[in-house]
Amino acid sequence: MNLIARTILLLFCLISVVSLAQQKNYALTNVNLYNGFENKILPNSVILVKAGKIEKIGNAGDAIPTGYETIDCQNYYLIPGMIDAHSHLDNLASAKRALETGVTTVRTAGVSAFQDVSIMNLAKKGLIPGPDIVPAGVYVTPHLEETVLADERLAPLIKGVNTDEELKLLVNVNIDRGAKVIKTRGTERAGRPDTDPRQQVYTEQQIKIIVTEAAKRNVPVMIHAHGDEGSRAAVLAGARSIEHGTFLSDETLKLMKERGTFLVPTFITLEDLTQPGGDYDGPVLNLRGKFMMPQAEDVFKKAHALGVKIVTGADNGYTAQTTSRISLEAAHFVRMGMTNFEALQSATTLAAELLGVEKTTGRIEKGFDADMVLIPGNPLEEIRHLQDALLVMSNGQLALKRIPFGK
Ligand SMILES: [Zn+2]
Repeated sequence: MNLIARTILLLFCLISVVSLAQQKNYALTNVNLYNGFENKILPNSVILVKAGKIEKIGNAGDAIPTGYETIDCQNYYLIPGMIDAHSHLDNLASAKRALETGVTTVRTAGVSAFQDVSIMNLAKKGLIPGPDIVPAGVYVTPHLEETVLADERLAPLIKGVNTDEELKLLVNVNIDRGAKVIKTRGTERAGRPDTDPRQQVYTEQQIKIIVTEAAKRNVPVMIHAHGDEGSRAAVLAGARSIEHGTFLSDETLKLMKERGTFLVPTFITLEDLTQPGGDYDGPVLNLRGKFMMPQAEDVFKKAHALGVKIVTGADNGYTAQTTSRISLEAAHFVRMGMTNFEALQSATTLAAELLGVEKTTGRIEKGFDADMVLIPGNPLEEIRHLQDALLVMSNGQLALKRIPFGK
């Protein structure tokens, strides 16, 4: 290494040390702790947070070291930050709203121009508290429409994305630009009145091209699919997860169990179709939602009984109008037959496994990212408590603090 390179490296290390030193250390006291992986509450816990990570989990009575700001959690319940495995979050205001709902990690599922990669980088540098993002970049779909403007190299795809070369180009531009997962399409959309979600789009062969090309660079593929033929093709081609899966047959569910393919049902979005306001509205979508919800519920129950890995996704952009939430998705999981502990894992540890971040995220444990949410009651007894975030910490930064009340 020459002198200039060494000097640059030294400066870089110094800057890193300075920025870490600037981050506050916290002691969260009087905590009822749900750590994310044990089906119990650890009362009277104390959590020390240093440099964005969980430094120590102790008990009441442990001395708090100097240099730590103490937050009295008033015997409320602390859980790991929730994970949204299917989001279209693409701006900073929405990132803030996601955090305020207790979501500290997000896997995106297609945005218009790599805004998800930029948000990922801001969070990584500590310039915003989060959420941490696993970005999908631009959707690999036959008609890019406006997203063709996201990168100059996509110009040849303005007429369509169908041939092997076109599919490979879009996968590689995504990964070059920072995508950590590829999102593609097994079937048509549910959220448009003029498309039928049962209609298959890419064939098994086309999806295989996408999965193989992404795998060369160690990137997994998540696949939007409602209808069974498109879903089955996606599973056979090597999908990491099926998004929605509304019409999955028993055979395809069994195949998913065998292959370890995850299911992200995004049930809360189907409910949004049936309700006024939110992200989706209109008579056709309203009727479609009412038809699809019992269908999706049936698939959920079969998937759960078979032991398919099911993970929470809210499928929204966290706009000011959005009414779908990970907390509500988890509540639906419990209503449809999961135990509270299972639903909590779907939103934390299991979701972290799907995203490939299970070594740093999804647990309140020494060395993990300090991503935590304080809620008013015991989530192992009442899942509804997830809806009421009192304090949100993401990467060791306070993103929301409502307590103490009454002062
Ligand atoms: Zn989506």
